[in-house]
Amino acid sequence: RNIHRYSTAVLAEEPITPPVQVNYTKLLINGEFVDSTSGKTFPTLDPRTGEVIAHVAEGDAEDIDRAVVAARKAFDEGPWPKMTAYERSRILLRFADLVEKHSDELAALETWDNGKPHEQAAKAEVPMFARLFHYYAGWADKIHGLTVPADGNYHHQTLHEPIGVAGQIIPWNFPLLMFAWKVGPALATGNTIVLKSAEQTPLTALYAAKLLHEAGLPPGVLNVVSGYGPTAGAALASHMDVDKLAFTGSTNTGKIVLELAAKSNLKPVTLELGGKSPFIVCEDADVDKAVELAHFALFFNQGQCCCAGSRTFVHEKIYDEFLEKAKARAARRTVGDPFKKGIEQGPQIDSEQFDKILRYIRSGIESNATLECGGERLGSKGYFIQPTVFSNVQDDMLIAQDEIFGPVQSILKFKDLKEVVSRANQTRYGLAAGVFTQNIDTANTLSRALRVGTVWINCFDVFDAAIPFGGYKMSGQGREKGIYSLNNYLQVKAVVTPLKNTAWL
Ligand code: NAD
Repeated sequence: RNIHRYSTAVLAEEPITPPVQVNYTKLLINGEFVDSTSGKTFPTLDPRTGEVIAHVAEGDAEDIDRAVVAARKAFDEGPWPKMTAYERSRILLRFADLVEKHSDELAALETWDNGKPHEQAAKAEVPMFARLFHYYAGWADKIHGLTVPADGNYHHQTLHEPIGVAGQIIPWNFPLLMFAWKVGPALATGNTIVLKSAEQTPLTALYAAKLLHEAGLPPGVLNVVSGYGPTAGAALASHMDVDKLAFTGSTNTGKIVLELAAKSNLKPVTLELGGKSPFIVCEDADVDKAVELAHFALFFNQGQCCCAGSRTFVHEKIYDEFLEKAKARAARRTVGDPFKKGIEQGPQIDSEQFDKILRYIRSGIESNATLECGGERLGSKGYFIQPTVFSNVQDDMLIAQDEIFGPVQSILKFKDLKEVVSRANQTRYGLAAGVFTQNIDTANTLSRALRVGTVWINCFDVFDAAIPFGGYKMSGQGREKGIYSLNNYLQVKAVVTPLKNTAWL
């Protein structure tokens, strides 16, 4: 077979020196950068080369405890919950402005630590990061309860109060955006926070937290502990003085933190987990446009998206044409140093994910899916993988069931809508779906029939601060972003007062 392979010439060049310095590597507790109690550090690596970018203070259970003590004090005594909502809003607005001012450093650090294309970080993610904080700043002084006319002899009201200390655990695929999805609503509603960043990408959370303090955030309100999951993460999930937990990561780890929360103090938990999202190309689709969008839906961010359109279902009538064009599109994808202009795909995050993706590719070949394009590592250093396309993928193959989290597109054939809905829904996940059609009735039917938290019709990966995101089934619990995210960080208190003078004189 004629499988397209990629040239490694582009990777033979020396890596471009990132236009930024690493200034913050310690833990941020109670407004100060401090070493970990153990004195330990861990290396954060450049995914382009596997070389060390910086050694970062490694927090563990003791540091989580110090951070929770600081957050507790800031909540119980500190100025944060006592400030006017308008003052909190002003701090968030000042922070968003500082993000815009320092967007070059933030984008460069994000690319260096994560490997994502710099243009993507600079033009989409950092502006969206600022946008999210502008959005949440707007909510800070618009949170209010109700008065309820239940019984004329009493004044009934509800107070929407912050929960207290929020523990937040985030992944490495969108370090800044995950920070914003969690920290934005928690601060807007008056909570204090201990955030554990992902061990693969600790740098931008520290930089952003520093800017928040520069914007006027009081000490202890946001504490950032870098460190590993089973140590720092588990300590946060099981801490008795953490009132709420928000987690984004794999479904397996989601189960672990939910159990830790239940076994400790029953803290409420929101979970943003994995997915195996279908992208459905209907028979009436404009094939060229469908190919481009399906390509983007899967390959964006090196395939490292929880909502990646990782099962491309194509109607049998256009399957052959779609396949040829999808293969050609993947073959044209530009892979290389993410700091280089025009690069669409950088390296995968680390050796663990890199090995896992290559194992899934081998499994696809062994299960007799047809390898159309790619399938191997690219270059000899770093974690680059060739854009890979499989056709003839069957529903029961591992590559059609598991989340690969890499640049591997699986193309499946379908005959009619009823069949494709049933197959699309036959997964333990339910995060998102893409539908490509020119027929509004088909779009309406599919958007209701698919058991997922987001349906993108003739678009994909469109995220707005105001639109909720989250999963059905084992893709998660609760919603982030938009008005829905505020409830994750609020609790409702009913206050009942007898009325001395009622309306009846
Ligand atoms: P992970 O679940 O291992 O890590 C996510 C976060 O949880 C990290 O901060 C990690 O340190 C922490 N963590 C790990 N073990 C923990 C524990 N025992 N207790 C508490 N916290 C713990 O995920 P990963 O290794 O970063 O990525 C692996 C898989 O996760 C991917 O293949 C993908 O399936 C999924 N993922 C999903 C999303 C999403 O947005 N839904 C994002 C990234 C990764």
